[in-house]
Amino acid sequence: MNSTAENLKDRAKKILKTYFGYDHFRTLQFEVIEKVMQKKDVVLIMPTGGGKSVCFQIPAMLFDGITIVVSPLIALMKDQVQGLRANGIAAAFLNSSLSREEENDILQQIRNQKIKLIYVSPEKLLTQDFHNLINSLNISLFAIDEAHCISQWGHDFRPEYTKLKILKDFFPHVPIIALTATADKLTRQDIADNLNLVEPERFILSFDRPNLRLEVRHGLKKFEQISKFIDQRSGQAGIIYCLSRKSTEDIAGKLKKLGLKVAFYHAGMASDARSKAQDKFLKGKVDIICATIAFGMGIDKSNVRWVIHYNMPKNIESFYQEIGRSGRDGLDADTLLFYSFQDVMVYRGFLEESGRKEIEEAKLNRMLEYCEGVSCRRRILLAYFGEHLEKDCGNCDVCSNPPKHFDGTIIAQKALSAISRLQGNIGMTMLINVLRGSQAREIFENKYHEIKTYGAGADISFQAWQQYILQLLNHGYLEIAYNKGNTLQLSEASHDVLYKKKSVKLVNFSEVEKAQEKKSEPKLTVKETLELELFDLLNEKRKELAERENIAPHLIFSDVSLREMVQKLPIDGLDFKEIQGISKEKLARYGLEFSHTIGLFLEEKLSQKKNIVGSTSKLTYYYFSIQKISIEQIIKKRGLGSLTIVGHLAMMYENGKNIDIHKFITNEELETVLKAIETCETEEELTLKSLYFKLEEKIDYEKIKWALAHHARK
Ligand code: ADP
Ligand code: ZN
Repeated sequence: MNSTAENLKDRAKKILKTYFGYDHFRTLQFEVIEKVMQKKDVVLIMPTGGGKSVCFQIPAMLFDGITIVVSPLIALMKDQVQGLRANGIAAAFLNSSLSREEENDILQQIRNQKIKLIYVSPEKLLTQDFHNLINSLNISLFAIDEAHCISQWGHDFRPEYTKLKILKDFFPHVPIIALTATADKLTRQDIADNLNLVEPERFILSFDRPNLRLEVRHGLKKFEQISKFIDQRSGQAGIIYCLSRKSTEDIAGKLKKLGLKVAFYHAGMASDARSKAQDKFLKGKVDIICATIAFGMGIDKSNVRWVIHYNMPKNIESFYQEIGRSGRDGLDADTLLFYSFQDVMVYRGFLEESGRKEIEEAKLNRMLEYCEGVSCRRRILLAYFGEHLEKDCGNCDVCSNPPKHFDGTIIAQKALSAISRLQGNIGMTMLINVLRGSQAREIFENKYHEIKTYGAGADISFQAWQQYILQLLNHGYLEIAYNKGNTLQLSEASHDVLYKKKSVKLVNFSEVEKAQEKKSEPKLTVKETLELELFDLLNEKRKELAERENIAPHLIFSDVSLREMVQKLPIDGLDFKEIQGISKEKLARYGLEFSHTIGLFLEEKLSQKKNIVGSTSKLTYYYFSIQKISIEQIIKKRGLGSLTIVGHLAMMYENGKNIDIHKFITNEELETVLKAIETCETEEELTLKSLYFKLEEKIDYEKIKWALAHHARK
C-alpha cells in the first residue's frame, strides 16, 4: 500500500471507530471505500447484514460535498437516517412522508451545507426542483441502495428506478455506487448497464450466512412445535411467515393467548394498521410478528433472532431472502421451516393459474429438494446460488443429526399396490385410510375394504404414512394428477418397484426429529443464567431509551454491543469505548445509564452471593467512579475490609484507570515507597507485609498498596 492509501485507511478507520464504534473493517468494506474515494463507479453485492451501508457512509464523511442516497423504501430511509443521527452524523431524508414545512427546513439545511448524507426516493430525485437544487451543490457521490430494483429480472422491479439512468448524463464526474443483496446473475448485469456505469469495479461477497442455523421439519402438530420453539427463546425477536392472511391472524391470536407479545401483518390490512404492526415490531413492543411475505422489504432490524416458515416458501430465492432478515448483526439466529403435503398441493394449484408454469414449477421442485434434502442444507442452498461450499456446514439439522435411511421397499409396495388396485381414483387421505384399515363410511360405500391391501399398513401412523408418500412422490415413484382432483397415479418408476423388486430407501423423520429435540434442550450453567439475566436488563434499558427517543431499540445499541457488555461489564467511558458498536455520540448519550444498569445488577447479585468473575472489584469501582461514593462509605456499604476495597481500586488503577491516587497517598509517601520497592531484589520482598516492615511500620498497608499499583501500572 502506498502512503496515500495508508493515510486514507487511517482516516477511514478513525471514522469507523468514532462514528460507528467499530475497530476493524469487515471483508471488502475498505476495498470498496478506496475505490469510491478514487471516484470510481462501483457495484457492490453483499448479502444482507454484510455491512454495505458504511461503504458509502464513510466516503460521504470523507468527501467535502454531499452524498445523495437513493432508496426505494420510505420506512427504511427513516430508520437509516435515525441510525446515522444517533451516531452524530448529519443526515436527513426527503420523501412524500414529510410535510411542506419539514421539507423546506431540510432543503435549507442542504443549501447551508449542514448535511452530509441526504436520502431521497427516486421520484423525488427526478423532480425538476430537486434537480435544480442539486445542480448548485457540490455532490460527491450517488449511492443507489437496493439497486436490483432497476432490473426487470429482479423480484422487485420498480419502474422509477430505470430513470436513474440520466444521472450519469447530468453528473458525469460524480461516482455512483450501486448496492444490493440480490444473488441473481442477470440482475447483477442489469444494474451496471441500466445505470450507465463507467467501467465499474465489481465486488461480490459470498452469500453464505454461517450464523443462520437451518432446520426443516415436517408440519405435524405445527403449533405445538412452534410454541415450544418460542418458549426456548423467550423475549427474542422473531418472524413467523405464513402463506395465508388468515393464518397470520390465527397464529398471532393463539400465541397471544399464551401470553406472548405478538402482532400480525398482511397485505389485506389497512395501510396504517400495517405500519403500526411493523412499527411495534421494529421498536420491540412486540417480540413476534406473524406475517405473509408482504412483510419484509424494508425491515432493517438487526436483532431478529429467529424466522419460522409456517408454510414452505414457493422458491429458494424467497426463502433465502426471508430467513436473511434474521441475524443481520452477525450473531446466531435460528431458522425453522415447516413443510407439508398441503403446501405442495396449494402451490401446484397456483402453478396452473400462473403464466410462467414451467419456471415456477422448476423452482418449486428445487425448494422441495431442499426440504427433502438428506445432505448438508447450506450446501444445497449455496449451490442454488452457484456457490460451492468446501465442507458441510455443521450448523444445519442434517449436519447435526443426519437422517438414517431404511429399506422402505415393502412400505412402498403396499402403497403403490393399493393405488394400482384402486385404479388411480383416490387422493392421499383416502389412500392412507385404506392402508390403515379405516372404518370410515366412504370406504365401505366404495367397497375399498375388499381390496387386498386394505389394512396392510395399520401398524404405521397416519402421519408417518404422509411422510412416506411424500417421499415416494418426490422421488418420482408416484405422481399426482392435478387435473383429476389431485388423485394419486402410478409412474414409470412405480412399475420397477411393484414388478421388478426395485428397492426403495425411506427416512423416518419423526425419529430424526425426536433425536433432534433431545439434543436441542439447553441446560444453563449458573454463569449463563446470570448472563441471560443481565442481558434482559440491558435489553429493557434499551427499550426504555428507545421509547424515550422514539427510535427502534437496535438503533440505540445492537445485540452485539449488549452481549459484549454482558461479557465485559463496562463501567466507565474507557470501558464502553472498548465495546463494539459504541460511537462517541452514543457513549455520551447512553453510556451512563447502561453503567448504572450494570453496576446495580452487580450490587444485587453480590448481595445474593452470586459472583461473576471480576465483579466484586467492578462493583467497588462503580461506586467509586460513577456513584462518587467515598472509600469510607464503600467500606461500610459493602461490609468489606478497607484493604480489600483499596485493593479493588488499586487494581483498577494498575490496569490503567484514571484514579487520582494523590488523594490517598502524598507525593512524598509515594516516593518513599517507590524507593523501597526499587531496592527489592526478590518477589517475596515485594509483598505488602515485607515492604511494611522495610519501611519501619511508618506507612500503612493501604498506601503501600497504592504505591505497588503505581509501580506496576501499565
Ligand atoms: P447490509 O446493508 O449489508 O444489510 P448493514 O450495513 O445494515 O448491512 O450492516 C449490518 C450490521 O453490521 C449493522 O449492525 C452494522 O452496524 C454492522 N457493521 C457494519 N460494519 C461493521 C464493522 N466493520 N464491524 C462490525 N460491525 C459492522
Ligand atoms: Zn450443514
